[in-house]
Amino acid sequence: MEWNVTKLSAVRQCHRKFYFGYEASNFHFTYPFRRKAFELSKMQSLKMWQGSLVDFAITSMIIPVYKRKKKPEYAQVANGLVELAKRQFDFSKNRYYHLPELSRTEVGNDFLILDIHENGVDFLQDDVDQVYDTIHRIVLAFPDYPSPDSDKSMDEYLSSARYLRADVRYFEFDFDGVIIKPQIDLVRHNGKMADIIDWKVSDQDNADYSRQLILEGIVSYHYLKNWYQEKGWTPLPQMKDFSVYEINLLTGVVKAHPFTVENTAIALDDVYALREEQDILSQNKKWDEVDLEKDYQSTDKTETCMMCKFKLLCKHLVLNNFSYDEDKYSKLVQVKQLA
Ligand code: SF4
Repeated sequence: MEWNVTKLSAVRQCHRKFYFGYEASNFHFTYPFRRKAFELSKMQSLKMWQGSLVDFAITSMIIPVYKRKKKPEYAQVANGLVELAKRQFDFSKNRYYHLPELSRTEVGNDFLILDIHENGVDFLQDDVDQVYDTIHRIVLAFPDYPSPDSDKSMDEYLSSARYLRADVRYFEFDFDGVIIKPQIDLVRHNGKMADIIDWKVSDQDNADYSRQLILEGIVSYHYLKNWYQEKGWTPLPQMKDFSVYEINLLTGVVKAHPFTVENTAIALDDVYALREEQDILSQNKKWDEVDLEKDYQSTDKTETCMMCKFKLLCKHLVLNNFSYDEDKYSKLVQVKQLA
């Protein structure tokens, strides 16, 4: 089984949440319960949506231009991103994600599920307009942001890279039978030196992402070392050639996480500590052979449930003898909206 930090975190928080998000969730409409788990797993709050839009702009509209050794037209990117955001909002508002006749290919980047539409979370139009303003402002400011190289702006830093890899999902590392496969926002190479970068778009700077970043560093280090070996290039990269950074795109703050033997050992210990839970959860039962009540225990932490995307589905199943009924589930959501 493959693991990334989000998956590890779901296991740690609640086994049932893990089941909904990673075992039951399925894009196809064949089984309404699995489709609902999929929709909820993709559901975003306005803040999360704002972050994913900026992430999309950097990954798909900005970095590819630098890779071609050109400069992005930032005003054009910012306007294009707001247009995309508005199309996504309409898609979610009209609940087009619930139409089986619309294929994923047809929908493309317009796909979005917002909690304000799916779960009826309260919002003001001002909150949505704020998202449009914020993503526009961030894209325009991006080239002048500080970069991991204190002598270079972000534009200079990206222009001077030998090679850039954005949204890397194919680096993996087998740690004692556990495949760690993170999603890495950006790897910037200069020879055997590599910077591993994670974009953040959060106004809270108290969250600790060090474990996630260090795991991304470990996987990148092993993947690139193997790559050098396969090519027969020397000298091989060493740990000291790798640096890991978190860059907050709302505040422009660049935070370096020391990539040391001690820190990597702590991060790997953390993965190891979850092995027992992983073994229990990886028993290769099919999704419909699972006894949800017994096999995937719920958490007793109220605060975890409060923040859980699946809370209404979870409540519905408990109330309905662990059997999914689309009509009853929809009524539960409506009652919640009226409350
Ligand atoms: S609502 Fe609570 S118990 Fe249910 S899946 Fe979510 S976190 Fe687990």
